[in-house]
Amino acid sequence: MRRIILLALSLTALAPAQDARQKANDPKDRPPLHRPRLGLFPIDALQVMKFGAAKAEAQSRRRQALTEQAAEQSSRKPEGAGRYLAAVVVCADADLDPAKIFGQKRTDLLILASPGPRIEARDLSLIERALRKHRLSLCLVLTHEGCETLSQRPEGEDEELWSRYLQATADLAAEHKVPMADAHGVSQSKLILAGSDLLNRARGEGRFQVASVMLRGNPSEGEFKLAWRAAWSQRPFDSLRPKPGR
Ligand SMILES: [Zn+2]
Repeated sequence: MRRIILLALSLTALAPAQDARQKANDPKDRPPLHRPRLGLFPIDALQVMKFGAAKAEAQSRRRQALTEQAAEQSSRKPEGAGRYLAAVVVCADADLDPAKIFGQKRTDLLILASPGPRIEARDLSLIERALRKHRLSLCLVLTHEGCETLSQRPEGEDEELWSRYLQATADLAAEHKVPMADAHGVSQSKLILAGSDLLNRARGEGRFQVASVMLRGNPSEGEFKLAWRAAWSQRPFDSLRPKPGR
């Protein structure tokens, strides 16, 4: 019963990330600035992005010869993979690089970022398209410990739904004695399957699966661990790897 309520609640919560956008415009929700100024103007942000891209390009040209062979060996897409090795639904409210975290080429991943992350209708349609056109077979929901989105109250019409979703997720976390982010990943994974007939049918036919992954630690400092959960499992909080002796 709880699961049905959870799904029903959350399906209606697939609303656009209007709250996130409103939040971003709210001065009190902006990150602190190091010196007094109005903020970063879009044109300046664009310039910084362009400089960054140019620098990365120059570096990649220099490194290309060295890294080509390593990349070929370390992250070769397996036989049979379509355009993407996997879709990764990742929390946008953290500095996470799924390519780095998963040791893959960025271009091999379909990366969908939202605060939380929180699956929305547009994410589902992208995943569906990747499945239809590019034989996508795996979707990972990447959550992380200490996620601020999970502790924030949204404002606006979404507030009540999100609060109820968080309560249901907190109950799930308590029941399985796992961190909130972990339970959230499993809930969102189930939502992906529940929110799309196409994906659910493909899962039934063995062509598609969803798993959630919770990140502990900080990848940019080189120290992190992943907890993998299979949303399709009867016991999603067991590890995906069978334990020895089973
Ligand atoms: Zn987060």
